[in-house]
Amino acid sequence: MGKVCVLECRDYNYDDVINIVHGLLDSFEELKELNQGKVLIKTNLLKKNKPEDGVTTHPYVVEGVVRFFQNLGHDVMIGDSPGGPFNPIILKGVYEACGILDVAKRTNAKLNYDTEVIEVKPKNSMLINNLKLVKAFTEVDYVVSCGKLKTHTMMTYTGAVKNLFGMIPGVTKADYHLKMNDPTHFANMLIDVCEHVNPIFSILDGIEAMEGDGPSSGDIRNLGLLLGGTNPHELDYIATYIAGLDNVPTVIEAKRRGLLKTEDNSITLSGVDISNLEIRPFKLPGSTHVNFVSGRIPKFVESFLLEEIRPYPLVKLDMCIGCGVCVKNCPPKVIRLEYKKAVIDTSGCIRCFCCHELCPEKAIGIKRHPLHKLVFGK
Ligand code: SF4
Ligand code: SF4
Repeated sequence: MGKVCVLECRDYNYDDVINIVHGLLDSFEELKELNQGKVLIKTNLLKKNKPEDGVTTHPYVVEGVVRFFQNLGHDVMIGDSPGGPFNPIILKGVYEACGILDVAKRTNAKLNYDTEVIEVKPKNSMLINNLKLVKAFTEVDYVVSCGKLKTHTMMTYTGAVKNLFGMIPGVTKADYHLKMNDPTHFANMLIDVCEHVNPIFSILDGIEAMEGDGPSSGDIRNLGLLLGGTNPHELDYIATYIAGLDNVPTVIEAKRRGLLKTEDNSITLSGVDISNLEIRPFKLPGSTHVNFVSGRIPKFVESFLLEEIRPYPLVKLDMCIGCGVCVKNCPPKVIRLEYKKAVIDTSGCIRCFCCHELCPEKAIGIKRHPLHKLVFGK
């Protein structure tokens, strides 16, 4: 039986966040019994965003986790592989922008700059036979998933499990998008990664979460919660329950694979009574598509809907600066630059929305068919 702890934390007041993160981790006795070793704090550092943008795990949350494990005598490293190219210069820029460089200065925690890649045979895998990981991330004794609670254009939700996709280096992630381009397959790949990494603990920054067109262009939603647990699937289940997000592929597939039990009393909850939280369900991403009705309507209707009304990315030409980030990160390479503006060949688009996620100018929107609006609402 697993345990998830949910604590209130109204805002990013430094002392409050550090103390509440400490209190949350301290309530898990098993963490205090670990043999001393190297701990990777796998933070969500999607791209070069300021902490107040609500895209990356807030640095004070990361600092609270770092300090907790340092106080237990562990050697702590912070790391992630953001979207796009993976090299020390880009890493430094991301660490600096996201406030993580300052965390390292304040705590003396190590920041990972090692971009060497290793190929491994994944443990407990259902879908993937080999896995390319950041080598330095495999050389630690324990991994802590320190993610951000957000909606996600492709996967509906990103939290503890999806955060571990950043164990895969840079643009290598595009290969996984290309090979597993529907949400169910992609969810199983994410679960395979999570099973292999086997994080010792997962924590979610839900103080300022994101709804709508997350994980980078949505609206900040002040949820005022910090969540943690030893089983990332249980943590995601509770987080999506709180956020009112149904049909999340990683949660559905974890349940199907027997990694998540949700019957009464399967998960021990501590902290706030979540049944008393009055929370308006999170706004869904505009890309929410017919996978939501998968299995509930005849297959031919579903296929028609998939082909005809599935939302697709659309470049807002007035906002595009021609930086080429989307071109480099599009898995099937269907974006090109013409006269310094991105142009998408939607016939080859796999709807991964990596372009939408990584565009630094928020210049890629989501085009919805009128019927899609009718089915899923505005
Ligand atoms: S759409 Fe965004 S990422 Fe692509 S070239 Fe334009 S500004 Fe850059
Ligand atoms: S155009 Fe965008 S959504 Fe389509 S495949 Fe390329 S990155 Fe993915």
